[in-house]
Amino acid sequence: MNKEEFIKSVSDLGINLTEKQLEQLEIYCNFLLEYNSHTNLTAIKEKDQVYLKHFYDSLTFIKATNLDNYETLLDIGTGAGFPGMVLKIIYPNLEVTLLDSNNKKINFLRELTMKLGLTKVNFFHGRAEDFCIKNREKFDVVTARAVSNMSVLSELCLPLTNVNGYFIAMKGSNIDEITESKNAITKLGGKLENIINFTLPKEDSGRNIAKIFKEKRTPQEYPRRYEKIVKSPLK
Ligand code: SAH
Repeated sequence: MNKEEFIKSVSDLGINLTEKQLEQLEIYCNFLLEYNSHTNLTAIKEKDQVYLKHFYDSLTFIKATNLDNYETLLDIGTGAGFPGMVLKIIYPNLEVTLLDSNNKKINFLRELTMKLGLTKVNFFHGRAEDFCIKNREKFDVVTARAVSNMSVLSELCLPLTNVNGYFIAMKGSNIDEITESKNAITKLGGKLENIINFTLPKEDSGRNIAKIFKEKRTPQEYPRRYEKIVKSPLK
């Protein structure tokens, strides 16, 4: 996806990018590819692919929720900033927290934030379960892309989501994984409101975005220890 195609596709999502935002994305892309040549951050090595599979794909988040009405966003397992950093560029007033257990990715994001001159970006190096100890139900919107299966992910993300907020899971083509975790979501205080199904342009790969409303507080027993979450996922 070249720049013109990117601008057009993003405007079809309802976002008109400013010159400044386009410039910030270009700096992001160049810095990502340069950093990736010595430190492994992403398997993607071509500019057009960064614009399609990282930038555009991150912005499809908008299909689920317009972030104008929220103050805080948490991105769990953000990697090199997807979708959290891209959303921060598009919504500069949003307070964004980027969390990952891999410190080289967090270091990259710290440097990038300075390069882009962004404020109101927080970082956490560590596991989502540990972060939850002090940050329970603190975020208006919690998101994650390509982190783990839906049941495990729900147990990591819903305890951190404010009541009346949303957990937005950006998933691949397997819709069954989402519908099968409906009961787990309910146990965690969430309600599966909607699944948005579409294909990524250019390469026609399937995507599903699960939109989960945080209806009630999450019972204190969740999240369990990571080994337990993975060994016996909630059903
Ligand atoms: N969201 C990014 C990265 C996906 S790779 C993208 O879509 O490109 C998954 C990332 O999740 C990795 O960087 C890994 O370090 C992180 N991760 C996996 N489980 C985690 C956990 N429990 N807590 C924090 N980070 C986690």
